[in-house]
Amino acid sequence: MSKNKLSRRKILKSAGIITAAGILSSCGESGTPKKPGKSASKIKKNYDWKLVTTWPKNFPGLGTGAQRLADNIKKMSDGRLNIKLFAGGELVPPFESFDAVRENKAQMFHASPYYWINKNKSMPFFGAVPGGMIAQEHNAWINYGGGQVLWDQLYSEFGLKSFMAGNSGTQMGGWFLNKINSEDDFKGLKMRIPGLAAEVLNRMGGTAVALPGGEIMPALQSGAIDATEWVGPWNDLAFGFYKITKFYYGPGIHEPSSVLECSINLDAYNSLTDDLKTIVKVACEAENNRMLSEFTAANSDAQQKLINEHKVEVLNFPKRVFKTMINISNDVVAETANEGKLNKKIYDSWNNFKKIARLRSPFNEQGFINLSS
Ligand code: CA
Repeated sequence: MSKNKLSRRKILKSAGIITAAGILSSCGESGTPKKPGKSASKIKKNYDWKLVTTWPKNFPGLGTGAQRLADNIKKMSDGRLNIKLFAGGELVPPFESFDAVRENKAQMFHASPYYWINKNKSMPFFGAVPGGMIAQEHNAWINYGGGQVLWDQLYSEFGLKSFMAGNSGTQMGGWFLNKINSEDDFKGLKMRIPGLAAEVLNRMGGTAVALPGGEIMPALQSGAIDATEWVGPWNDLAFGFYKITKFYYGPGIHEPSSVLECSINLDAYNSLTDDLKTIVKVACEAENNRMLSEFTAANSDAQQKLINEHKVEVLNFPKRVFKTMINISNDVVAETANEGKLNKKIYDSWNNFKKIARLRSPFNEQGFINLSS
């Protein structure tokens, strides 16, 4: 080791000791609070943030995942970024989460980007669009295909910064009071279905209704809606939709993957030190991965329960019906490009990525499953 390197190491080591000692003493170890210096105050500043969610309290996967994210950020930051979670309706109604964080009434929200379609038609591209990409493709587009840059551009218009923070995997098509035999069965159908898929249903002759999770079961019970999608076997079992009908269709065309977002007030995010920003980013990445595993495992168990204990018929849509829905979806999704310059950029980026990724499908997971089962 050269003399220079050795002395540099010594300097760093002693600087580390000084910093640690500085932190201890300014923590008031001696009982006498000390006035922190400029750098010490930057290191030591604590943040108390509110995280609002669109999910019912402790809802499996979605709510518990958001809580795990908050807990992990707190632990990783050693309590410097302390996040208190509010379930949908506790601080603000679920669908007001976006505006609450824009207005800094809370600093973060956990939700699905397609809930904000009325703010901008391209919001769903960062959550789920009908006929879209599966989780692995979607993650790849956001992380490596330019998706995050476009997401940042879109959300910065609203004073927000977003991260992927969860994924349900491919969702089910939903629960229907009557069997679906042809496209005609969608005519006059009142269904809870969000995002761009609402327009697909409307073009099939149905009427789409937007409801937060907690309001679906009462609407189905009262006959206000004839059908609903929610997530998949695990979450749908928790809501008890099987008590109303036994016809459960899947996969849905509308959420081949459903990315959940952790979105942050941009000024609040920018006020964080670089290490806390990294903690938030990495905690969101961890949750994005963790939640998909949890859904994959829990959906398998729950599907067996629905079939064996609750006598649910788990069915595919007839092929022709599925194809019709996909064709309409492709039109609805493409039309978002007409909304503006950024909308076109988002659609083109997403569409080109998907096209190229699908050329791999016969040779990756899809090819393997098709050929091996
Ligand atoms: Ca859904």
